[in-house]
Amino acid sequence: MPGFEVFGDEERKQVNDVLESGVLMRYGFDGMRNGHWKAKEFETAFANRMGSQYCQLVSSGTSALTVALAAAGIGAGDEVIMPTFTFVASFESIMMLGAVPVLVNIDDTLTMDPKAVEAAITPKTKCVMPVHMCGSMADLKALKNICDAHDLLLLEDACQAIGGTFEGKPLGSYGDLGCFSFDYVKTITCGEGGGIITNNEQYAIHCDQYQDHGHDHIGNDRGAETHPTLGYNFRISELNAAVGIAQLGKIDAILALQKKNYTVLRTALSEVEGVTFRRVPEGGEENYSFLSFFLPTEALTKKAKIALADAGVDACFYWYDNNWHYINGWEHLRDLKSLGNLPAEIKNQIQDLNNSDFSAGDAWMSRTVSSLVKIGWTEEQLLDRAARMKSVLSEILKTEYNL
Ligand SMILES: *Cc1c(COP(=O)(O)O)cnc(C)c1O
Repeated sequence: MPGFEVFGDEERKQVNDVLESGVLMRYGFDGMRNGHWKAKEFETAFANRMGSQYCQLVSSGTSALTVALAAAGIGAGDEVIMPTFTFVASFESIMMLGAVPVLVNIDDTLTMDPKAVEAAITPKTKCVMPVHMCGSMADLKALKNICDAHDLLLLEDACQAIGGTFEGKPLGSYGDLGCFSFDYVKTITCGEGGGIITNNEQYAIHCDQYQDHGHDHIGNDRGAETHPTLGYNFRISELNAAVGIAQLGKIDAILALQKKNYTVLRTALSEVEGVTFRRVPEGGEENYSFLSFFLPTEALTKKAKIALADAGVDACFYWYDNNWHYINGWEHLRDLKSLGNLPAEIKNQIQDLNNSDFSAGDAWMSRTVSSLVKIGWTEEQLLDRAARMKSVLSEILKTEYNL
């Protein structure tokens, strides 16, 4: 996920447009801004690229999730189903609204298991929030069928999978709402930023209002605007949006390089007996930002993680004991350690996460290694990496597993 690897003159030029006028805010100051509306320009271009009618930029991917949920009317006590393998933003954004996260197991797609989703539905369920982790997607068709049958919202967290597709549609555009992050380590970056896409006009209006204190943005006198609902400040600045315009111009080149580099690594590992790959749901195409693979046992996977690092293969992640991305690392959530009092709905309704059975997800996560796919690798570095990974894994599987 390498947007920062290609930061260059295009980004500097966009930012300079903003610096020259000094109008750092996305609204107002029409006379001073030399015709530059960077946030608006990015929104139009992004909606277009994502095949969606509307895009709302905000300050981060996390705030995009919160704004999307709020826009669809999710609030206190509503249950939102989310996976156990994700970034912490999933439960943060839900709990910010007083809504209740309901965590379900992942399967061999490394995303939420549709059967687990179905089993978790209660009369309070309002939304299913799949997370397309590490460049590949949840089984959106199965999830959409479930959502349609139970009248639930389908909100895609596509923060890590920008550019991937499902049944020909860009990830994020298949459900009712889709969210993206443009933080510094994502496939395209604004430094900090996020975006929401939707085809639902009402949700789009709500997003626009909610992210800016409820302002209706009608007319050109900010002070005279009305406020149909309560909101908050999740605005993006013009400086950040400007970087995003330049990065969006590079997205197809980034994706093509990721696919090429991913394919070289995958071809090499395919020749190692005992290595298998995450399942991509039928109809899906990854964005190739990571290559995720399974080894036969947890013990072998832990050995492989160490051996890969020892062999100088960087950026291979073992999420199972990583603090950030799997339920195992979220002690603060499991024990509900908040600074202040949490809403009663959350305290009363949340499942006992210390005593929930996540063994089905553990069985996949404990055997998963994900290699980041960089675009800055030279041909020589790429081939060297592929050869090293292949040799390290073959050695481990041969001596430890008699393959
Ligand atoms: C990065 C990320 C987010 C949050 O984005 P920020 O811009 O860092 O707030 C949310 N979900 C997933 C899956 C992410 O990878």
